[in-house]
Amino acid sequence: MSVKQMYIQGKWITSGSGKVRNIINPATEEIIAEVTEGSVEDAQAAIQAAHKAFYVDGWGDTHARHRAHLLSMVADKLEKDVEAFSLLEPLNNGKPLSESIYDVEDAVNQFRYYAGLATKPSGQVYDVPDDIQAYVVRDAIGVAGQIVPWNYPLVMAVQKLAPALAAECTVIIKPAEQTPLSLIKLFEIIDVVGFPSGVVNLVLGEGATVGAELARNPLVDKIAFTGGTVTGKKIMKSAAETLKKTSLELGGKSPNIVFEDADFETAVDYALYAIFAIFANQGQVCSAGSRLLLQESLYEKFVPELVKRANEIAVGNGMDPDTEMGPLISNQHMQKVLNYISLGKEDGAELLCGGDQLFEKGFFIAPTIFGNTTPDMRIVKEEIFGPVLVIQTFKDEEDAIRLANDSLYGLAGAVFTSDGAKAQRVIRKLRAGITWINTYHPTFNEAPWGGYKQSGIGRELGTFGFESYQEVKQVNINLNVQPSGWFKRK
Ligand code: NAD
Repeated sequence: MSVKQMYIQGKWITSGSGKVRNIINPATEEIIAEVTEGSVEDAQAAIQAAHKAFYVDGWGDTHARHRAHLLSMVADKLEKDVEAFSLLEPLNNGKPLSESIYDVEDAVNQFRYYAGLATKPSGQVYDVPDDIQAYVVRDAIGVAGQIVPWNYPLVMAVQKLAPALAAECTVIIKPAEQTPLSLIKLFEIIDVVGFPSGVVNLVLGEGATVGAELARNPLVDKIAFTGGTVTGKKIMKSAAETLKKTSLELGGKSPNIVFEDADFETAVDYALYAIFAIFANQGQVCSAGSRLLLQESLYEKFVPELVKRANEIAVGNGMDPDTEMGPLISNQHMQKVLNYISLGKEDGAELLCGGDQLFEKGFFIAPTIFGNTTPDMRIVKEEIFGPVLVIQTFKDEEDAIRLANDSLYGLAGAVFTSDGAKAQRVIRKLRAGITWINTYHPTFNEAPWGGYKQSGIGRELGTFGFESYQEVKQVNINLNVQPSGWFKRK
């Protein structure tokens, strides 16, 4: 098995650390690849390369058309290879193949979207007094460090890479330790499309060393992070030393609110949405609808149907086309989730289904639902990041809003009702960045992604994500310069 390398200053590099990391298939526990284990020195080399590419070699002076062309080429090549990329994520992350195909297509679309956005009009012009023409231009922030989690290894990377490169930044990106394979493969494309050396760099290795260096190093102008809230806080502290621009996409404990005012047929469909809201990607989704808020009067009809459907979910190896839910990412993470399940039982919540590890091999947990919860329980307050749904009940609209917002997080949330005005009232009051009415989870690259409260800072995707890699510069031109060079006052 050849050891996979990092990509620094336009070259494939093996770390001087001499260390190698085994990459595991979470469905079988088999070693599927070996990758070089990057060090702080490797991160520093990549940062220096990106710094030189931006400040010395002129990437910061490229034309938008050129950048758009490069990004379009990446999109085309990725699209031609959807099948090979799609097979990598079930192997490395465990997700079902159908979800993986969707992820790769999403990544293609992200490159296309930002290739388009690079060349679109930007800036503002102001009508100001004193014979001055004032306008605003947007400038690249400079060197961007990017840190990605393991739950959507390709998509989370591309939603950082594409806007940064479109905005003229240079980049050092680090995947999660567990899931580097799809990003390494993406760099095989980046290597051939013709980015100048040092513009896009890939470093591998631990968060606490390599990732921390990206957040700390004074040559990095912006740090973009997706991951856990605790890590996000560490990164923010470290970035504060050099006042780096910082964007953080963190955790959530999002409410999925279902009112009684739907006929039962529709409510049954809502159960399906509730299933998709929490059990997609094994529940390892930051925006998962992990708290189902049910109107009390609906409970007796709704919950048996929900449990029946949860029990019918086909759990298995993500490579099997029939699989609907795969394994969790690692044994360590599975133990964390199982620990939450024990806590839920100890605290008196009612286990309605699941709760157990499945199969001899791999990190599988059955779809799990808890009823009879109270707002102070840890399974209700904390992000479990696994296939565990907690049900809370509410009396009326006011109660629903109060419970929904009773969280440190504010990433996402949904409301299901046939009363359009009520839906809008609830969404208005919901303290969350990504919301839905009568659906859960469809999101689009055109729209901003990010959270309120401790779910993060800033937004990715859409024009918001693009602008997060830009500075804003005002320019004031004297329209009245005299031949002497003096300003003529009226
Ligand atoms: P994590 O915070 O442990 O790791 C995420 C990344 O940060 C990895 O690349 C890791 O190597 C790196 N890292 C770890 N410690 C670091 C440090 N001290 N300095 C710099 N980098 C460090 O999170 P995870 O367990 O990989 O991912 C799960 C979390 O990510 C969940 O909380 C989830 O909600 C969140 N998430 C959020 C979004 C979003 O868009 N808001 C999307 C996906 C995941």
